Amino acid sequence: MKAVYKHPRGMPDILPGDIGSWHRIEKAVRSTMHSYGYEEIRTPLVEKTALFERGIGEATDIVEKEMYTFPDRKGESLTLRPENTASCVRAAVEGGLLQPGSVHRVWYQGPMFRYERPQLGRQRQFYQTGAEVYGVAGASIEVELILMTAELWRRIGVFDAAQLEINTLGTAEDRAAYREKLIAYFESHTDQLDEDSVRRLTKNPLRILDSKNPDMAKLIEDAPKLADNLSAESKAHFYEVQALLVANGIDATVNNRLVRGLDYYSHTVFEWTTDRLGSQSAICGGGRYDAMLEDFGAKNTPGVGWAMGMERIVALAEALSKDQPEQAIVDGPDAFVICTVKDEAAYPLIVTEQLRRKCPALKIVQNTGAANLSNQLKRADKLNARCVVLIGEEEKANQTVSLKLLDGKNETRTLPQNEAAAVLSSILGS
Ligand code: ATP
Ligand code: MG
Repeated sequence: MKAVYKHPRGMPDILPGDIGSWHRIEKAVRSTMHSYGYEEIRTPLVEKTALFERGIGEATDIVEKEMYTFPDRKGESLTLRPENTASCVRAAVEGGLLQPGSVHRVWYQGPMFRYERPQLGRQRQFYQTGAEVYGVAGASIEVELILMTAELWRRIGVFDAAQLEINTLGTAEDRAAYREKLIAYFESHTDQLDEDSVRRLTKNPLRILDSKNPDMAKLIEDAPKLADNLSAESKAHFYEVQALLVANGIDATVNNRLVRGLDYYSHTVFEWTTDRLGSQSAICGGGRYDAMLEDFGAKNTPGVGWAMGMERIVALAEALSKDQPEQAIVDGPDAFVICTVKDEAAYPLIVTEQLRRKCPALKIVQNTGAANLSNQLKRADKLNARCVVLIGEEEKANQTVSLKLLDGKNETRTLPQNEAAAVLSSILGS
């Protein structure tokens, strides 16, 4: 019996037919990161488990139930990264980047792993892109990060479908006082708490506000608000964020229930959502996490960042482009090389290699498999090639090629093989 393998649950393949949207979005990501002066950082897919337990926080969904953790051959506990903020901070500290007074703007992209119940928009391996800034306190860098996400949405073409929610978590001191009130409130309603919330009540009661359990909604709604328990400085910080967003024409809704994933967050947290993707509506989230850097050994180095879910952005961009089918982009070869000389392998290969070397920006694909001229031309059409490079008996004998533009007029011109690259570049515009 043959073995038939399937991908692990929640870890789907992205096949070549689906990669086009990814490439377009990744291109927009790179151009946006470049525009804002962010530099790429790459960290390993696995880290020591303790990094995430500490960096994300023990009373979080991720650490409590979503991590892929395993011992390596020497028994050391490793974890597939469920997110990249803690890894980036670790790398920046370990790499000696965070000298006093220095500022670093970094970005990353890559797969993350969370053991979740797979559903539309929720996978066990999924891709995130994110940006982090080390070494800058204050509201305006938080707003820079939000504005760059907005600009990214514009470049991807999803801006009109994205809504911004913001909140402030104040300082650790603000939260310490508030924590007591929150515990007292939930303790007087223990009968209404679910299992997760009972566990979190003493560990990290703020997390209860993040509960997705609809049965808890009313209880959470009536809970004391952190907003009513902030210091004057924290309030001023948050007002400044709001004023800067208004000055830049970005609408934001204040959502007091937004507490986000990391235990280390303080001051501004934000999330972009969309109403176009059903229940998995969060496309991007971020916030300030100064305390993590302090804890990881970078004294007086503030940190702030965001991460977006690539699958959800891809789905959103695709959903929106379906509204405008005329914008569908077909990514065919620039040139399709066909040869009608029987059993001739060398000449077309040489021609194609030279074209590729001289026109590195062009996509040049050689026909495979024997076929007559008309069938090879049909293949070129089917692939949406922009042009055909034709090699027949005559071309081979004279060391020439014939270029046929597939633009409707389908003109053909024959020219010396060593001139083909320059002509191809000029007619295809690269
Ligand atoms: P959610 O509330 O949907 O679980 P989250 O708060 O756990 O999201 P973050 O840790 O903030 O998500 O990650 C940032 C982004 O990564 C999310 O806004 C989302 O777009 C994406 N994301 C998170 N988990 C998944 C997943 N399991 N599958 C696909 N995308 C995900
Ligand atoms: Mg989650």
